Amino acid sequence: MQPMPDWNPVSLCRKAILLLLLLPFSLPSLYLSAQTFRIDTISDALFQRIWEKSYKRDCTVPRSELRYLQVAHYNGEGKAVQGEIVCNKAIANDLIQIFKELYQNKYPIERMQLIDDYDADDERSMEANNTSCFNFRFIAGSTKLSNHSRGMAIDINPLYNPYVRGQRVQPKQGRPYADRSRRFDYKIERGDLLWCLFTEHGFRWGGSWRTLKDWQHFEK
Ligand SMILES: [Zn+2]
Repeated sequence: MQPMPDWNPVSLCRKAILLLLLLPFSLPSLYLSAQTFRIDTISDALFQRIWEKSYKRDCTVPRSELRYLQVAHYNGEGKAVQGEIVCNKAIANDLIQIFKELYQNKYPIERMQLIDDYDADDERSMEANNTSCFNFRFIAGSTKLSNHSRGMAIDINPLYNPYVRGQRVQPKQGRPYADRSRRFDYKIERGDLLWCLFTEHGFRWGGSWRTLKDWQHFEK
């Protein structure tokens, strides 16, 4: 039997149907290659990504209270890339507005992946200088929730803006950047663009705390 030639109407029709079927899958990726800033509820697919990672089994924050954000940002090489982050719905609009301004000003944010890509391990995520927000956990030895547990706190460029309490520095590799008299990229300082935007939107900065310094941290 001869193989069907390409111009065969049945074959052409099949190709057209296949194209139509694939179109919805190719469109979102085309759309996302533009500078995207969007807020979505937690889809089933996303919930699977975060389940038993940032969204632990004992999570007391309802899934409906969380939002999935996609934001464009400039990475360390000055390239525009898409980032993703999960936060509380109460700060979703704030974050979108802040990240839009940062994007327009080419403010560098090295990485913005879900912390679940690091198995919700905060230390690993911070070492990778990954910006993140929601990660459910009780404060050690208590039933108190941290503001990250509710998705109400965000850590920006954490490797260069470490958490410092006495001799303890997190992430460990962030120790050189605990010295805030030094100059280096990604450093957050009072009065800079990032600080102004978060402060204007009503966030408190961990860099202004007295007993400890959490330079990466803004919360509501
Ligand atoms: Zn934090």
